[in-house]
Amino acid sequence: MTPSVSLLLMLLLGFSQAHPLMEEGSAAEIPVNEDHTVDITTRILTSNNVTDEILLEGDLLAPRTRNAMMCWSQNCLWRKASNGLVMIPFTMSSEFTSWERQKIDYAMNTFHSKTCIRFVPRQNEYDYISIENKVGCFSALGREGGRQVLSLNRQGCLYHGIIQHEINHALGFQHEQTRSDRDYYVRINWENINPQMAYNFYRQNTNNLNTPYDYSSIMHYGRTAFSIQYGRDSITPIPDPNVQIGQRQGMSYWDIMRINMLYGC
Ligand SMILES: [Zn+2]
Repeated sequence: MTPSVSLLLMLLLGFSQAHPLMEEGSAAEIPVNEDHTVDITTRILTSNNVTDEILLEGDLLAPRTRNAMMCWSQNCLWRKASNGLVMIPFTMSSEFTSWERQKIDYAMNTFHSKTCIRFVPRQNEYDYISIENKVGCFSALGREGGRQVLSLNRQGCLYHGIIQHEINHALGFQHEQTRSDRDYYVRINWENINPQMAYNFYRQNTNNLNTPYDYSSIMHYGRTAFSIQYGRDSITPIPDPNVQIGQRQGMSYWDIMRINMLYGC
């Protein structure tokens, strides 16, 4: 190999490692090389700015059948098969490219490897998740019955953390900062929130599964969610205001534990 050829190869190799999102690289590279300077909720809320769906708390589809935002009774959980696995049928829109499908598969794989949840291509099951490229990133809360849309807009939502966030909603999990006991852990700065958006911060009657409040949950809003003005925080952790909130990467230890607890994995 001549020096110029090996130099070229080194350059190409270096380039492919620095820009794996432009390549059909191995799935393991995906989350590591994403841009993590923006937290998940900021991205979700930005993508959802233009949607005309009725969304609660930014990215939850208003329930069709339930009259409250609650999902911890058996009838909104996905059913467990006799082999102990929770099989969740899904379909994926043909609008997604193979690279985009790979990202979605990769996000699902964490559920497969750490919990008893298994996403399986739908055959003819009645209840299933339809993953679609709608305007915005959103999901229903828990199993709704029949076909339920989980939207991952191709432009704004195909990030590892966002995909997992929306899947977690479909499993029945709400936002961490609306937990029933959240006032012990965060202060909601109502003066920095548009009054029309205040409902997004109402406390919910959540089932916390006796798990600690988790600032690092993938379901926790970032500190400026729904803020009226750049630089003004809507959520401040207490007592230590400097605790990091608003996840950027993927499910936390407790996110995974809670799935296992809720579904008795
Ligand atoms: Zn959400």
